[in-house]
Amino acid sequence: KRAFYIGRFQPFHLGHQAVLEMIAKEVDEVVIGIGSAQKSHEVTDPFTAGERVMMIRHALGDTGVPHYAMPIEDIQQNTVWVSYVSSRTPPFEIVFSNNPLVIQLFREANIEVKQPPMYLRSQYSGTEIRKRIVHDMEWKHLVPPAVVDVIEEVNGVERLRNISKTDY
Ligand code: ATP
Ligand code: MG
Repeated sequence: KRAFYIGRFQPFHLGHQAVLEMIAKEVDEVVIGIGSAQKSHEVTDPFTAGERVMMIRHALGDTGVPHYAMPIEDIQQNTVWVSYVSSRTPPFEIVFSNNPLVIQLFREANIEVKQPPMYLRSQYSGTEIRKRIVHDMEWKHLVPPAVVDVIEEVNGVERLRNISKTDY
């Protein structure tokens, strides 16, 4: 049995990892959709799809979560989004999500959706982690060690601080 789980993973953090470890207990494999794959170098979306693939590969490497991480670009047409996703992913029969639009679209397509519990949402949040990186606050304890390595390899801290500046 295969499950689908989608996020932007900007960056991949310990909340995502906890959810995926829980999902892996219920299914054989997880198809992970990396959403807004076309975006990078934006304050809300600093990392490329390829960098996010690396984060997920290395973070999940030794956790026993068999997975495929697939970049998924945005399309501006929700009516065909489920078919669009399904056409570029391995087949899956259940979706895990807490995103209301994602839940709505899959349920309308008669695909089963389960809502996983949130893990310490106030700290394990992409928005919170990006804010901490920009403001030079502690952030490394909120992501898997492998994600720290990827962010360091691509100079992600400097990138995020630079793109959050303005030209006046
Ligand atoms: P951002 O603040 O940038 O939106 P995020 O932490 O919400 O980042 P996403 O990539 O948007 O991360 O999340 C992907 C999915 O993971 C979403 O459906 C979200 O609800 C879920 N998620 C995020 N944080 C947690 C958490 N701490 N526990 C459980 N699920 C989480
Ligand atoms: Mg989010």
